Amino acid sequence: MKEHIYTIPLNEHFSKLEGCPLCGLFDMMERNEIETITGASMMEPDVRVKTNEHGFCERHFAQMLLVGKKLPVALILESHINEIYSEINRKKGEAQAKKLKTLENDCYVCRRINSNMDSVFSNLFYLYRNDSNFRDLFAKQKFFCLPHYRELIEYGAKNLPKKEYAAFFEIADSIEMKYLETLHGDIDWFCRKFDYRFAKEDWKNSKDAIERTVYTLTGHMPKFRSDNIEV
Ligand SMILES: [Zn+2]
Ligand SMILES: [Zn+2]
Repeated sequence: MKEHIYTIPLNEHFSKLEGCPLCGLFDMMERNEIETITGASMMEPDVRVKTNEHGFCERHFAQMLLVGKKLPVALILESHINEIYSEINRKKGEAQAKKLKTLENDCYVCRRINSNMDSVFSNLFYLYRNDSNFRDLFAKQKFFCLPHYRELIEYGAKNLPKKEYAAFFEIADSIEMKYLETLHGDIDWFCRKFDYRFAKEDWKNSKDAIERTVYTLTGHMPKFRSDNIEV
């Protein structure tokens, strides 16, 4: 059954044909995790054991503070910092630093999403092999953010037989290269517009080229605009 859990959300996000479809799925899972951790799961002992151990990254702390009420977040923080204290209190010197470094690169929500994304990709390639409608939808995509494009290439190699992988790669690669060329054209035109010779020309499709380029590179739309750019 593992292969089928994400069939509906995959079809839903690949049908939208806007943005990276895997970012759409990622955002949905991230919202669920943050809502659950600051709500229903907050007092569950087995979840608390894991949040105490793994903690959260800066991105997910920020989302918890935005979504959650202050008391549930404070209770999670209280037992997490208490556990860190008792663990590092037992260690000395570099052993203490080693434990803290592990913690800096760990996050309960990132772990949960990464393990779900594993199932998403195996479901995606199951559909790709067995459902011609999904294959058609895949070929219609406008682009993937680069982190998800990289994962598609990697998971594709693991999930498809060699010949099918070569055909799949050709399709994914042509979608991505075409988009990167267009994106580069947009950000290039954005830069040129600051040259007095082009000042009166149309902005074409370049006004949000910075945001779209950062999104393509990172998989996350930047949340602010630089206020020194008057566009
Ligand atoms: Zn993406
Ligand atoms: Zn995280």
